[in-house]
Amino acid sequence: METYTSPPPVPPQERTPLVAAMARGFVNRCPHCGKGHLFGRFLKVRPACEACGLEMEGHRADDLPPYLVIFLVGHIVGYLVLEIEMGYDVPLWISMTVWPLLTLVLALGLLQPMKGAVIGLQYTFGMHGFGKAPPARGGPLGGTLGGTGTGERRGGEAGSRAGDAPGFGSA
Ligand SMILES: [Zn+2]
Repeated sequence: METYTSPPPVPPQERTPLVAAMARGFVNRCPHCGKGHLFGRFLKVRPACEACGLEMEGHRADDLPPYLVIFLVGHIVGYLVLEIEMGYDVPLWISMTVWPLLTLVLALGLLQPMKGAVIGLQYTFGMHGFGKAPPARGGPLGGTLGGTGTGERRGGEAGSRAGDAPGFGSA
């Protein structure tokens, strides 16, 4: 009898658990250390975490965040529209102002947090650009271990901005 022996790319204990990683991503924090920032500007993921050096530019969030946002906002706004328009006599101009505005605000407000959560999920499972062992946590000593990687970057994505070498941050 043969057992299935395909080890995960990284021992699971080195990574942040799923819920915590997704929560960190949701609030614009690095899923690995929770200190550095995930996004440099709106929706633009940093090449690497400025605190622990985790490489983040290989993520493949792609269409999942907007899909989830549409799903969520559609249900929230759809429910509110039904409840309020059926229950109250709302003037037309209010309906035509409030609902599109609410939809827009919710969609734009949730898009980046949702993308962060999806990236947190990909990080926890070692998907896509997160296959390598994450850098060791905790301070200057840990930061120097294996952060810079071996030039696996996928090219293209403008990214010299947050390219601080890991371990430089906390002197
Ligand atoms: Zn980090």
